[in-house]
Amino acid sequence: MMRFSRSTALASLAAATLTGSTQAQNVRAAGIPPGLAAIREADLRRDMEALAGDAMRGREAGTIDELRASAWLAERARAAGLEPAGEDGTYFQFWPMRRAVTSPASRASYDGTRLDLDSEAVVATPVDATIDGPVLAVATGTTPDSSAARGKVLVTTLRAPADLGGRTKRNDTFIYTLLGMFEEVRRLSKLEAAAIVVVCDSIADAGFQFPSTWMHRGEYGIDSTGARAPAPGGDPPVILVRRAPGQRIASASRFTATLIADRFTQVSVNVIGRIRGTDPKLRDEYVLFSAHQDHDGVRFPTNGDSIWNGADDNASTSVALLAIARAWKQHPGRRSALFVWHGAEERGLLGSRYHAAHPVVPITSIVAVVNGDMIGRNNPDTASLLGSQPPHRNSASLVRMAIDANARVSHFAIDSLWDRPAHPEGFYFRSDHVPYAVRNVPSLFFTTVLHDIYHTPFDEPSRIEYPKLTRMAKWMYATGWAVSETRERPAIDPGYKFSR
Ligand SMILES: [Zn+2]
Repeated sequence: MMRFSRSTALASLAAATLTGSTQAQNVRAAGIPPGLAAIREADLRRDMEALAGDAMRGREAGTIDELRASAWLAERARAAGLEPAGEDGTYFQFWPMRRAVTSPASRASYDGTRLDLDSEAVVATPVDATIDGPVLAVATGTTPDSSAARGKVLVTTLRAPADLGGRTKRNDTFIYTLLGMFEEVRRLSKLEAAAIVVVCDSIADAGFQFPSTWMHRGEYGIDSTGARAPAPGGDPPVILVRRAPGQRIASASRFTATLIADRFTQVSVNVIGRIRGTDPKLRDEYVLFSAHQDHDGVRFPTNGDSIWNGADDNASTSVALLAIARAWKQHPGRRSALFVWHGAEERGLLGSRYHAAHPVVPITSIVAVVNGDMIGRNNPDTASLLGSQPPHRNSASLVRMAIDANARVSHFAIDSLWDRPAHPEGFYFRSDHVPYAVRNVPSLFFTTVLHDIYHTPFDEPSRIEYPKLTRMAKWMYATGWAVSETRERPAIDPGYKFSR
């Protein structure tokens, strides 16, 4: 579909430069935003080193580390001149986050031998269940008779997925295990079994730490929106088991378990500030600049490093928003600008789901969402604009503003592959613009996409391409500026309906 090259962008920039009669008019006609020079690489680097430094401990949602980062962001937002736009006159919108984890008091055994639900096995989804049933070994890929399966503990080995859908290498073992497990679970969960035990093959066994760490972390959700409610009932409990004990369970006669889900209410927070618009008519409408402040916290060490800094993901856009705020403060737009650093994105877009459901300004007054996630790595001259092609696109007029802004200001070759519905990563659906798009707010997702240090302890400030991050910040700023200045707010495309 659309593909925009650097040469096209430069050509349109040249055309824009040639049409005006004076430099000032050129700048005005082309819509070069007036605060552009206030977005400086040195500021982005300094803020990045603070926000993604080890002292912030990876900013995990629901922990004191996310709150520390939130306080830091609010202080920087105040210094940038944003007025508080959270709740009760503050920069903060706190919201309750539900978490369910498998209790360490859970127990499982086969023929009287204890199965360690940490080193040997992991419960896939936290659940309260008492299991006591005969074992029925099931050959991979086969489905036993429902009468034979009823009340039994089905034990099967995961099926190697036919392909990983072209996913990035680093996630292979994790994705391999999940796909291989779900392949079996999808079929067997219809059988009224007492439980399903999925045994790792040698590949999944070697990488057991990745899915098991993820499953131990449990489920997160928001009560008030019902997002990702923990532990859906009905289906039999699923336990992923390492190879050696799994082979013993398959030949055992009886399997028993008491599974307990511990449930907690934690707190996460959206940090929100604004700059009022200059136009008395338009200032009650908002351009929403969006990022997420959280990352994955402190986890198991890899090469001696246990802090998952999340520099690109997503301190990059968080510090870009601070830079945009400084530029905006120097030259406020006609419409107001709302800056939202969402919490708990990594736990399932929870902060943006909460704010889209409980916005601090009327949702209909948000004329566009300019969201960024991971905007500071990869090829220096390419970037992606997600939501620019159907079926993801919800506002052709907003896309046009972003494309024009790129042609004038940032000059990236726009990679259109990641916005295609057939792209294996489904990247469009993985950031904070989504809950707004669901509510028919014109929305875009700026990104420089995945890389080999995505969700690892190595996503550190030293790995950021600062000139590129600066250009991305300028592109987002110029897009938001165009939205702020235009007479007609960006329209939702006729017939648009969010679909996945
Ligand atoms: Zn992430």
